[in-house]
Amino acid sequence: MVESVFMAELSWPEWQEKIANGAIMFIPLGATEQHGPHLPLNVDVILPTAVCARVARHVGGLVAPTLQYGYKSMPRSGGGQTFPGTTSLDAQTFAHTLRDVIRDMGAHGARRFVVVNGHFENAWPSVEGLDLGLRALRQENITDVTAMRLEYWDFVRRETLDRIFPEGFPGTELEHASLIETSLMLLLRPDLVAQDKIPQEGRANFPPYDIFPAPPGYLRGTGVLADARGARAEIGQWLMDDHVALITAAIVKEFGL
Ligand code: ZN
Ligand code: MN
Repeated sequence: MVESVFMAELSWPEWQEKIANGAIMFIPLGATEQHGPHLPLNVDVILPTAVCARVARHVGGLVAPTLQYGYKSMPRSGGGQTFPGTTSLDAQTFAHTLRDVIRDMGAHGARRFVVVNGHFENAWPSVEGLDLGLRALRQENITDVTAMRLEYWDFVRRETLDRIFPEGFPGTELEHASLIETSLMLLLRPDLVAQDKIPQEGRANFPPYDIFPAPPGYLRGTGVLADARGARAEIGQWLMDDHVALITAAIVKEFGL
């Protein structure tokens, strides 16, 4: 029997048996989105996949193939859609993709899901996809499915943020391609981080509203929204330890493990 937490690496009888024994299905939600000149386009794929794999090992779960495309990048949280390489789905396409995944896995016996978002803009479209997936299963008289949906970055202790940002945490939106994501990438895939290309500029300063189309000068030329200088693998480890411990605790509580 293959001992992998990744669903795609199992045979169908292996998957079926684990699901029949109550394995939780983790569904990581990613994006293909620019992350500045120093990080690859798949940061939002690598990070939630890594979190899911670690938590799944703790709770006996399985990780579904990560959604490789996300909902559209916005200037204030991801730099925006105009950066070459940022390749996104319409909200309906995204939600329907998640809906179909949940519907098929539910029809094949999965009863507990944890949807783990790794891209800021996926938040509400993922709520829609999850809701539509559960509705589709109810229409097939499958009514005993339960699910959690979360952003992995919310699972961090205040002390950890204070240690990383002694001058104050700039906020999740501005962390795009900045200190947190760069540190996690240095922990997980240092081969994909070009530290000599980290922009030498401070954090962006956006008004509290969106403008369509984004006016010239509104977009950050580098695609990095705060400061990635000072990123270290050790910081990535502090964050990962919090994410795994706190998400595991929440799952144990909610699913009564
Ligand atoms: Zn990101
Ligand atoms: Mn993103």
